[in-house]
Amino acid sequence: CGIIGYVGPRDARGVVISGLRRMEYRGYDSAGIAVLDGGAIQWRKKAGKISNLDAELAERPLPVSGTGIGHSRWATHGGPTDQNAHPHLGGAGRVALVHNGIIENFASLRSELAAQGEVFVSETDTEAAAALLGREVAAGADLAEAMRRVCRRLEGAFTLVAVDAADPGRVVAARRNSPLMVGVGEGENFVASDVSAFIEFTRHAIELGQDQVVDVHADSIVVTDFEGHPAPTKPFEVTWDL
Ligand code: GLU
Repeated sequence: CGIIGYVGPRDARGVVISGLRRMEYRGYDSAGIAVLDGGAIQWRKKAGKISNLDAELAERPLPVSGTGIGHSRWATHGGPTDQNAHPHLGGAGRVALVHNGIIENFASLRSELAAQGEVFVSETDTEAAAALLGREVAAGADLAEAMRRVCRRLEGAFTLVAVDAADPGRVVAARRNSPLMVGVGEGENFVASDVSAFIEFTRHAIELGQDQVVDVHADSIVVTDFEGHPAPTKPFEVTWDL
């Protein structure tokens, strides 16, 4: 329901949690966060309010990191449980993915992947996309190319945001039939489903068009279509107040 990703010099944990709080008005039933920690991904996720996630983080803190993603979930496939909360992992924990929307063809993807030995640990539609993404990076694609390949296989509505443990300092996001905004900072960048998630940090924004992927580092933003061709972007200033 609400998504945020961050790359830059700030503490991504704080940026992600405050972004999730800014999007609370949209409603949600679970929340989660993942950060890059050296060559690994660390994550926490909890059913219920963001305060439940906060309590979990107080008990089992995440490390300071400059790269993070977060999600508040409105369950569509699988009940509102800790296990079904996002992020979902792929590639034996190498990638973490958060998702807004519904992947219509998840059942056929899931059975195809299960036949290839993939083990699923949630009841979500999202986990099929996480597994596909994990397979693409394991096969050698960089995170942006892996995301494009996954998006070409998905039907339905999705805003996706992912990180790769082997590629710190990078967040890749994509969208179809679901909103995705980029917050353009100085030496830092944001992605979110809603500008309210990053408005306290920057008012320079880019609205992604249909079927686009954005590859975000602290000092660069590259937008393509699902085939990898450069895509036009719509920059704007957020002039309103919350
Ligand atoms: N369909 C996904 C799920 O049920 C994402 C729901 C959402 O947009 O929060 O986990």
